[in-house]
Amino acid sequence: MTRPTVTAPDTAEAADLRLVALTKRFGAFTAVDELDLVIPQGSFFALLGPSGCGKTTTLRMIAGLERPTSGRVLISATDVTDTKPYQRPVNTVFQNYALFPHLDIFENVAFGLRRRGIRGSEVKRRVADALELVQLGHLARRKPAQLSGGQQQRVALARAIVNRPAVLLLDEPLGALDLKLRRQMQVELKRIQTEVGLTFVHVTHDQEEAMTMADTIAVMNAGRIEQLGDPTTLYENPRTTFVANFLGQSNLVAATLVGRDGEHLVVEAHGQRLALPAARCATSGPNLWLGVRPEKLRVVADGTAAPEQNRLTGVVTDASFVGVSTHYLVRMPWGQELGVVQQNDGTPPLRPGEQVTLTWDPAHTFGLDAAQDAHSGEDRDAGAAELAGAAS
Ligand code: ATP
Repeated sequence: MTRPTVTAPDTAEAADLRLVALTKRFGAFTAVDELDLVIPQGSFFALLGPSGCGKTTTLRMIAGLERPTSGRVLISATDVTDTKPYQRPVNTVFQNYALFPHLDIFENVAFGLRRRGIRGSEVKRRVADALELVQLGHLARRKPAQLSGGQQQRVALARAIVNRPAVLLLDEPLGALDLKLRRQMQVELKRIQTEVGLTFVHVTHDQEEAMTMADTIAVMNAGRIEQLGDPTTLYENPRTTFVANFLGQSNLVAATLVGRDGEHLVVEAHGQRLALPAARCATSGPNLWLGVRPEKLRVVADGTAAPEQNRLTGVVTDASFVGVSTHYLVRMPWGQELGVVQQNDGTPPLRPGEQVTLTWDPAHTFGLDAAQDAHSGEDRDAGAAELAGAAS
């Protein structure tokens, strides 16, 4: 199977960050494979992918901490590939905040300015502005050890922003925070990025984090970009099984193309006729994976469904009530279990063993090349496979 090509737009503006065929090999192992990417100035860009896919190596090459084996890095139209890290208009915020423990918060933030020879009231004003932005002005005279994890992370951010870099690199910056604080910081980070208008490049393996904050996401797999786009497009129109499984969960059913009805393709899946929009099919071949997200399915007990709907019948094998919704697994006659997430509307949940009909709007269906592994991208975390309902 050939991988989809991700073509970088050749309309890079002067202030953009541009990676050109950027490659990093460690011995015989290729960690980053001819990456072509244009990150527009002022965007919040996420590099998303599983552990080991090459995200951090890419970030380190942008920062100048890792030398590319080949390829170029351009910032604001200047080739910085051979420029020392401290001479690049780039700052990095790491997961471990790396604050100076003996300096107070003000001096931690002022450090980079002083090193660049900035003195006096200019330092005062810029540090105050940066601390104001992260809402820590009142804690300026505390030492890092007297702050919570979230506050320390905000200091690290202020310290990076105060230098007004063209590009701010964020390497799993929220990884050390607990879930509640993470959520809070996600909103904060987005607010700060909007306020300062700098280019943020954020590395994460957490799909929710990427979707919450970024305006553009590059999904990385094995050193290459599988798909690039805004969160909604990636979620609604995945082009590969890896993206379909890594970003949210997908039911993928083996199907064969049998015809066309206007804007829709008609397929046969285990003897059932189903439809999908031709525009949402990423393959022209006769064999495909028919994909539908769990929350797009409706599960009904009585078998009623509008004639224009896609429909499959099966037996409930698991029903998990999770408050706002109920998660079902429904076994198809051919043995595959499909995941369904149904919003709770007060009606009692269906029970395991019940015969049910799954219906959905063909518009919510996508098609992927059947030559790909239907399970690719599923091992994002152990629990994710549960609702993935991938083909058996
Ligand atoms: P994680 O989310 O776990 O940090 P990542 O996507 O950031 O993963 P990288 O740190 O970029 O991944 O690593 C990509 C691959 O390159 C991994 O397989 C890693 O083992 C390998 N690698 C990274 N640095 C080195 C090195 N200095 N020497 C050899 N191999 C390396």
